[in-house]
Amino acid sequence: QGAIAIVKVSGPAAKEIVQSIVKIPGQQLWSSHKILYGYAIDKNTNQKIDEVLILIMDGPRSFTGEDVIEIHCHGGLITVNQILEQILIQPNARRAFPGEFSQRAVLNGRLDITQAEAINDLIHAKSQKAAQLAMAGIDGDITQQINVIRGSLLDQLCEIEARIDFEEDLPKLNEKELLTNLFSIRTKLKSLILDAKQGSLIRHGIKVALVGRPNVGKSSLLNLLCKNQRAIVTDLPGTTRDLLHSEIILEGVPITVIDTAGIRETEHEIEQIGISLSQQTLITADVVVLIFDINKGWTSDDQKLLEDIPPKTTRLILGNKADLNITPTQIKPDAIISALSGEGEKEMVQALLKLCGANDIGSLEIALNQRQLDLVEKAVIAIDNLEEVAQQKLPWDFWTIDLREAIYKLGELTGEEISESLLDRIFSRFCIGK
Ligand code: GDP
Repeated sequence: QGAIAIVKVSGPAAKEIVQSIVKIPGQQLWSSHKILYGYAIDKNTNQKIDEVLILIMDGPRSFTGEDVIEIHCHGGLITVNQILEQILIQPNARRAFPGEFSQRAVLNGRLDITQAEAINDLIHAKSQKAAQLAMAGIDGDITQQINVIRGSLLDQLCEIEARIDFEEDLPKLNEKELLTNLFSIRTKLKSLILDAKQGSLIRHGIKVALVGRPNVGKSSLLNLLCKNQRAIVTDLPGTTRDLLHSEIILEGVPITVIDTAGIRETEHEIEQIGISLSQQTLITADVVVLIFDINKGWTSDDQKLLEDIPPKTTRLILGNKADLNITPTQIKPDAIISALSGEGEKEMVQALLKLCGANDIGSLEIALNQRQLDLVEKAVIAIDNLEEVAQQKLPWDFWTIDLREAIYKLGELTGEEISESLLDRIFSRFCIGK
């Protein structure tokens, strides 16, 4: 349920379909980019279903590039379903597939594939920074940057192909210069790969597990972070397990904090599940934060907790209660904080983000998604191969194979070279109605 809902109809028959299920009083004209006021009606009984606004967008000035009519109705399930039903009983209408509106927009040249993907990212953005990166994608920044790189590769390919066809008529190609150009392109691609990895942290977030003896200040720390970092998303409702998760945003990075002490507390009731959940959490966490009371010093229980952290898991040892007397410890904490006064919070957050490679995200301008990242990585491999071809002093024909491969992969990224089945696969992951 929501205050309003929008039923979208796209295609050449959109107007005709909607006209047959609404009553528009007075002299309102069905002209493009106008809003009409009226009622949705049941065609069989002629009864009013809902009071609606009709938004008309004739193609190509619409999201899909086709004629689009939107029916803005009230958000109750019953009315929306009744309106949908009235539309769907007509022979030339069917439900949209997931992402089909965006797919049509791409096929009709209204958007390129990276822009459509960015819209999806914007919808699912969990932080302001993620939304900002998505907006850069919607503005076409990804395609623009890739096109510049692809253009340089095409220039190199032209040079080589000309030599294959008209070797005698043209000045000799400077192989060294050509390779230098290719390597500088590869460097740009590699920097996009690094940015994409940071972008993925911003998009998908980091899972942080909190461990520590009772009373060292785990809840106080969580409260401090939640309070100061404004954008608390939620304590996820649901199962006992979910109640131990808190979602917060630290410097633009979404963080899921899991208090493993909470998991242990369930041991009394369901001991085995509690223990295995706790272990599982430590394994799947991106970082484990081990908190100890720096006033009391490092105890054997703290040592035991440290040894419980799986060897491969990244960890941050945090001394809390820095406002009290600090007892010297044999273990050097990565950060010191007072969850009570907030002292050391900024440094702790920085240390945590740095451990995950999510620091300094402010300057990030674009971030490729997984599909785009895979393609850039393949383009880099193709240039690596080219380097080998050059080292083996193979003829120009061999150079063109890898160069074409790199160009093709970047074309696939922007949608310039993309098959319909691939498009289907990409858009099937979108939500219905987008
Ligand atoms: P938890 O059991 O690890 O979740 O610990 P709590 O957050 O419940 O804290 C236990 C006690 O330590 C409470 O009385 C807190 O007020 C206190 N405490 C937590 N952090 C600090 C701190 O930085 N300085 C001081 N002086 N007391 C703290």
